Amino acid sequence: MSLFGAEEAEPKAVPAKDMAAVVPKVPKVLPEYDHTKLFERLDRSDFRRSFHLGVQDRAYIDKKGMDAIQLHAEDFVEKRLAPAFPHNDGSQTPMRGHPVFRAQHATGCCCRGCFEKWHHIPMGRPLTEKEQEYAVSVLMSWIRKELK
Ligand SMILES: [Zn+2]
Repeated sequence: MSLFGAEEAEPKAVPAKDMAAVVPKVPKVLPEYDHTKLFERLDRSDFRRSFHLGVQDRAYIDKKGMDAIQLHAEDFVEKRLAPAFPHNDGSQTPMRGHPVFRAQHATGCCCRGCFEKWHHIPMGRPLTEKEQEYAVSVLMSWIRKELK
């Protein structure tokens, strides 16, 4: 049978039970935070303030749009920062390769040790939903600030 036979050409209807999977995800509506003090503190750290969006990061944001970037931030925070003991904690966030990675290093949201140091949220327990939203809000605020 040909690989490109009629059966293959016929698009399959998505079964109703799988429809949720094809509905585009929308980013969370985050509470309003004032990060002014935090960004002032971060700006006094030579290490933290050395991070900026690169040309490729900016191109990526342009291509994907801010909603997608926030969805990625939500995903990274949930999977790599929120667990009580994240996999490879301390080195789970690459230095480059995604604008959110840069934002994580710039804001001390890269690992639980830095998160505790900069945001006073203790290590060794899972982050609550609110704490995850807070982290995403910090990351998105930093990215918006960089884009100005
Ligand atoms: Zn760190």
